[in-house]
Amino acid sequence: MSSKVAHYLQEHLVGEVIDSSDARRYFSSDNSIFQIAPSLIVYPRNENDIRKTARFTWQLAERGRLIPLTPRGAGTDETGAAIGSGIIIAFTAHMNRILELNTKTKTVTVEPGINYGKLQQVLHTHGAFLPPYPPGLDYSTIGGAIGNNASGEKSFKYGSTRGFIKALRVVLANGEVMETKRLSKRELSKKLGLATFEGEIYRSIDTLIEENHAVVDQFKLNTSLNNAGYGLYQVKQKDGSFDLSPLIAGSQGTLGIVSEASLDIEDYNPASCLLMAEFDSVEKLQQALLALNNVKELPSSVELVDQSALEEIFRLNPNHLKSLISAPLPRFLVFMEFENVKKPPKSAVKLLDTLAKGYDISADPERQINFHKIREAVNVISAHNEGLLRPLPLFDGAVPVDRVRDYLDGLHKLIKNNNLGSALWGHIGEGNLVIKPRLNLGQVGDRQKIFRVLDEYYKLVLSLSGTISATSGDGRLRTPYIERMYSPEAYALLVKVKQIFDPYGTLNPGVKFGTTVEDLKTIIRSDYSLNHIYDHLPRS
Ligand SMILES: Cc1cc2nc3c(=O)[nH]c(=O)nc-3n(C[C@H](O)[C@H](O)[C@H](O)COP(=O)(O)OP(=O)(O)OC[C@H]3O[C@@H](n4cnc5c(N)ncnc54)[C@H](O)[C@@H]3O)c2cc1C
Repeated sequence: MSSKVAHYLQEHLVGEVIDSSDARRYFSSDNSIFQIAPSLIVYPRNENDIRKTARFTWQLAERGRLIPLTPRGAGTDETGAAIGSGIIIAFTAHMNRILELNTKTKTVTVEPGINYGKLQQVLHTHGAFLPPYPPGLDYSTIGGAIGNNASGEKSFKYGSTRGFIKALRVVLANGEVMETKRLSKRELSKKLGLATFEGEIYRSIDTLIEENHAVVDQFKLNTSLNNAGYGLYQVKQKDGSFDLSPLIAGSQGTLGIVSEASLDIEDYNPASCLLMAEFDSVEKLQQALLALNNVKELPSSVELVDQSALEEIFRLNPNHLKSLISAPLPRFLVFMEFENVKKPPKSAVKLLDTLAKGYDISADPERQINFHKIREAVNVISAHNEGLLRPLPLFDGAVPVDRVRDYLDGLHKLIKNNNLGSALWGHIGEGNLVIKPRLNLGQVGDRQKIFRVLDEYYKLVLSLSGTISATSGDGRLRTPYIERMYSPEAYALLVKVKQIFDPYGTLNPGVKFGTTVEDLKTIIRSDYSLNHIYDHLPRS
């Protein structure tokens, strides 16, 4: 891109426009295995800056010249969704304020670049919190959490980010601004009558849903998390109410750019009861998970650390858990949290009496530190390099909870057959597990192996009626595989949604659409690193 573009934008924006090689190198990676250098970086100071940038790229696209726009928070995305070859819109520099906090209506309104952890701290001081926080909240933003429809340890009880959006301000591909929130039938009719791009979007999406109810329903999976494609089935409800926010959340910058978000918050009580349970068979673990979904007071989180992960932690850092756990290491260690209580519900205890090999309960914050230390020890694995071998973020599927047994069996086989030497842990309550195989991206053999293993992995997940993208989204990494998840009719609807919002393809192209496996091979980094987040411990 010529410096003419940078000069033009510099002249018209209040925020800075930078195209130095240093800045371009910095923004060429996120936490995925890919690398694409942008042409320039815009640091918007206000919504108008984003609008002007979008209008500019729209007008160029009308004349046949495509400049991609990629919104970016902290760039911790693991799928290559926060990088792009055109303009990076970097939110963390200026658009990072809390605009309003109302504890009566339990709503907080923020700019997208606000650090999630800082916002959470402020909310805590007001006795509130935002529940679907991702593990890396200290080093990521709200804009990124909306972009990825992020979820984390509390999502067992509270679901993902989508469920906490009250309203969004969204800059559209042509620079117009749209406000999304749940609209009544009457409010929707008004929107349908608008003679603007926004009106066109409302009309087209409404018609798309009305003409394809049965196909839209196919996006409802039996998994509690699903970020593959778009949240189309959550837009129109049976009562005729309509909200485009569920489409924007999880769209990874491919439908619009969020300039302001109002979010629902919950009461926060740090007192909780933690349970650490040991299971010696996958069957019993499966039964316990199913039963936990039916206890009266749901745990807020249900997390797993597999024996393979504990072995790996002992191998890498022999002293880290020495005083807390000793051999024989448990086959499956499950951590549960019950909020606002000193004792877990009787139903949960009964269930563990029957199914667990043993368990430990604590409401004492001092002792709970030990529980957290064991669960969080997996972060040691995510951060460990062995020479040029790096733990890579490749897999993010989830299966329905009644298929967890088959999923665990399948994953153990996948790891063994492909010599991935990898440990296993994750959000087991949501059927979502993490494996981070250590590979050397500088070696052709390892690069080829990635796609062989991904292929096998997706077959496994899909054979269990799961999703290929549970927490982090599709990004570039999973774009070539989305089509396998849905019927051709359902996939065609996703394509239409993209065309409706982004007819010229300026919004984060290559993410969710337009990337093949061959394309991915050309953008793999030769040296993976977590450079953007080592100020903190990479959490997963
Ligand atoms: C070790 C590790 C573990 C992780 N575990 C999880 C997990 O358990 N659950 C989970 O959900 N995520 C997880 N992630 C992924 C990521 O950290 C989160 O999704 C996080 O919320 C992204 O925030 P960010 O500010 O870094 O966003 P970025 O990486 O900057 O952006 C993420 C996406 O959102 C889009 N975006 C950013 N800002 C805007 C905006 N204003 N408008 C529209 N789109 C926007 C970007 O274009 C991109 O597509 C993990 C990442 C790492 C490195």
